[in-house]
Amino acid sequence: MALTFGQHPARFKLDVRSRPRMYDGAMRHDLMEILVCPMCRAELTLTADREEDGEVVEGKLVCSGCRETYPIEDGIPNLLPPDMRD
Ligand SMILES: [Zn+2]
Repeated sequence: MALTFGQHPARFKLDVRSRPRMYDGAMRHDLMEILVCPMCRAELTLTADREEDGEVVEGKLVCSGCRETYPIEDGIPNLLPPDMRD
């Protein structure tokens, strides 16, 4: 197999901006569709104490399985198991 150099070198350009964003960190109601309890994988119920522009700024997530509670602070849900917080 012959390699030809100098003709139309392939150029690969990484465009970081075109990468799909999975999750920007904000806690939104539609995020509930992908969030599950890290302990038992059951569904979480969102309770919003304060919302801004459709994002839950303060609130909590309650597991429907093991009843564990996960706090939401500054719009970020803390899904660490209770003994791993702090
Ligand atoms: Zn659970």
